[in-house]
Amino acid sequence: MTTAQGSAPGAGAKADFDAIIIGAGFSGMYMLHSLRDKLDMNATVFEAGDGVGGTWYWNRYPGARCDSDSYIYCYTFDKNLLQEWTWSERYPEQDEILRYLEHCAERFDLKPDIQFGKRVVGMAFDDSTELWTVRTDKGDVATARFVITAVGALSAANTPPFKGLETFKGKWYHTSQWPHDGVDFTARRVGVIGTGATAVQAIPEIAQQAKHLTVFQRTPAFCVPARNGRVDPEVTKARKADYEGIRQRIKDSFFGFELSFLPKAVLDTTPEEREQEFDRMWDAGGFAFWLANYQDMFFSKEANDVIADYLKRKIRSTVNDPVVAEKLTPKNYPYGTKRQPLDTNYFETFNKKNVLLVDASTDGPIEEITPTGIRAGGKEHPLDIIVVATGFDALTGPLKKLGIKGRGGRMLAQEWELGPQTYLGVAIAGYPNLFTITGPQSPSVLSNMPVSIEQHVEWITECIAHMRRNKLSTIEATAQAQDAWGAHVAEIVSSTLMPGANSWYMGANIDGKARRFLPYLGPEGVSGYRRKCAEIADKGYEGFVFARQGQGGTMQPIAAE
Ligand code: NAP
Repeated sequence: MTTAQGSAPGAGAKADFDAIIIGAGFSGMYMLHSLRDKLDMNATVFEAGDGVGGTWYWNRYPGARCDSDSYIYCYTFDKNLLQEWTWSERYPEQDEILRYLEHCAERFDLKPDIQFGKRVVGMAFDDSTELWTVRTDKGDVATARFVITAVGALSAANTPPFKGLETFKGKWYHTSQWPHDGVDFTARRVGVIGTGATAVQAIPEIAQQAKHLTVFQRTPAFCVPARNGRVDPEVTKARKADYEGIRQRIKDSFFGFELSFLPKAVLDTTPEEREQEFDRMWDAGGFAFWLANYQDMFFSKEANDVIADYLKRKIRSTVNDPVVAEKLTPKNYPYGTKRQPLDTNYFETFNKKNVLLVDASTDGPIEEITPTGIRAGGKEHPLDIIVVATGFDALTGPLKKLGIKGRGGRMLAQEWELGPQTYLGVAIAGYPNLFTITGPQSPSVLSNMPVSIEQHVEWITECIAHMRRNKLSTIEATAQAQDAWGAHVAEIVSSTLMPGANSWYMGANIDGKARRFLPYLGPEGVSGYRRKCAEIADKGYEGFVFARQGQGGTMQPIAAE
């Protein structure tokens, strides 16, 4: 039982904590710092892992590194922190990001208020006390006025129910639940299932060590080179001198990067002109090819085909065996509608003698896992180790797993069976005083995550500060505002090519999951979304209702101060 003295805003029923935060990754750590150190609130964090870091605590597979440039994949809220931390590489490795987050935890003295090794397994809103009760797998029962989920969008591992997995006599690992002391592939026959962003990072690394690697591909990926490397100290110096500008530019950008679409349609260019642009983006490496390409790429199939053709030619010119190259070439979805994997020697790896590609369409899908390997297309592939790189039940999965019960016992997991329903991706009608950092229907995974995390944390902090100033005890999205937001999210995406892919953005990677576009792809990206959230706050939190203590169940709109 965890208890602590708390002073709930709006007075009334005494809670153990003013706020409970779930998760101690990028978002939970900043949320704790904001509520505790800016608003002087009594906040605690429940974290399932034994350390801070979230994604970067769990995902320790070989080759794990960030696909965002390090100088912007970090907190920007503290000027001194930006000056004192120096990234070694363009894309930091998992252990460097974890060291960074450890450093932040120490620097802001966060650990005393984080309860490690405790997974939240249930939480319920009590209509009479207007408090949340949160339960953990270690038996804790704690109450709080506010709950803020900081559980990440990609934290609920998806292990498909492969027939026979439990009979496998070797070892198998999901990439997001990787052993902390690593896995030795030396002299082993290894199978990797999946070819998404994770596998694209892991496959070249594993192939270097393993005796033999078999890659089981269901859908080929369009890859672009990462072009990782040490960061020139002069570049680092210039960036440090310009962090104010950088911060503003990423906040004002579409995706939270220093990237913008070319203000031109690819179909209006000559083949020579666009080839030059493609070469430039290809040589730059990273997300430029995906997020700073011609502006019609996400809207016109014809335009998309022209751009995809460049990437297909790259595959064919890199992979020696034309049959393997063909298998690795995406054919049935538009480029960019699945998350762009960044690669370092991914396609080159299939030229190695110890690497075999088993493609579901041409060789046959995985039929079963046997005690000694994987059978696909009627052929058994003997294996000692299986790496399951099959991704996540994205965005909604981590929230559904919390066992959230709102007003009158309504259950979030049930209500979301046909897809998420939120207001701005940060609040849910019927679930008062619950905030979801980078939740579904917010820009979240379609942005450089720290940018969206900081925006949500700062908006939530200001909202709670507003409630405290006005002695308000609950805030709740209205069903009308929520419906309108859901319709807006769906309408925007329907004008793009995004629904044309069986992506995890669409929920299509999980059997039985409703096919809905999960993040928010607003017309002006993260900058437009930020403005929208700010306008809503300025209008007295339009689309929300507040109540003072004791008005539970009969909430009245209350004007802002
Ligand atoms: P993913 O993109 O969902 O890829 C999973 C792979 O497993 C896909 O190739 C998928 O095929 C395959 N798969 C799923 N179920 C299968 C089944 N039943 N049978 C056979 N194959 C199956 O997952 P991920 O690669 O872990 O990446 C998830 C996300 O994590 C990324 O998109 C990215 O946002 C994030 N990530 C970030 C970084 C970074 O920045 N450092 C690195 C890695 C990942 P289909 O394509 O056919 O579904």
